Amino acid sequence: MIINELFYSLQGEGRLAGVPSVFVRLAGCPLRCCWCDTAYAWDPAAGREMSCKQILDAIGNYPTRYAVLTGGEPLAHEGVSELAAAIRSAGYHLTIETAGIYCIEGLQADLMSISPKLSNSDPQKNAEKHQVERLNVDTLRKLTAEFDYQLKFVADSPGDLDEIADVLDKLGEVDPYRVYLMPQATQPEEYLTKSRWLVEYCKQAGFSFSPRLHIMLWGSQRGK
Ligand code: SF4
Repeated sequence: MIINELFYSLQGEGRLAGVPSVFVRLAGCPLRCCWCDTAYAWDPAAGREMSCKQILDAIGNYPTRYAVLTGGEPLAHEGVSELAAAIRSAGYHLTIETAGIYCIEGLQADLMSISPKLSNSDPQKNAEKHQVERLNVDTLRKLTAEFDYQLKFVADSPGDLDEIADVLDKLGEVDPYRVYLMPQATQPEEYLTKSRWLVEYCKQAGFSFSPRLHIMLWGSQRGK
């Protein structure tokens, strides 16, 4: 499996924000979101080959029981099932961070952290392909039915809020407690500005506001 990077940091978003975690970033993502902060991981060959044992040994170097498989898009890899099972068998709490466009039979995870992509992520190039691929309601329903999950939406402007409501409507029964909204930002100033209107909407709608600790602390610095 090609690993783009493996690093130790704090989980920045969602239910486990603030928990020290080891991040294993798998290379490759078929989407090309315009504000993606990990474009360096888009290429499936952007990294180095590591076996499950090598990955587990590397994870074991850090003082935490929380591991995160991220990307890129980790569910674009068939081998992710074997890796996920090995990490959990070694006693780790495993979060998988995904855009929710694939579902793999037999996959294990303690938390499926799903970030469905809205139209604010459409790139200028290949926008039509992106629009078709970025949202798969059937797959989202499957992932939310099969796993303990959280849904994280990136909001860029107040105009995105209707679109979030529309996606949730299509999904059917979603516990608002599991819905997290977070501002699209790559730098702390932008993050704070957008957080102010987003927090007010979260209060009205009963959704949780998710921090993005890594943006607040380190901006878009890689490996943090
Ligand atoms: S799905 Fe995630 S990793 Fe892939 S392009 Fe979009 S933001 Fe980047």
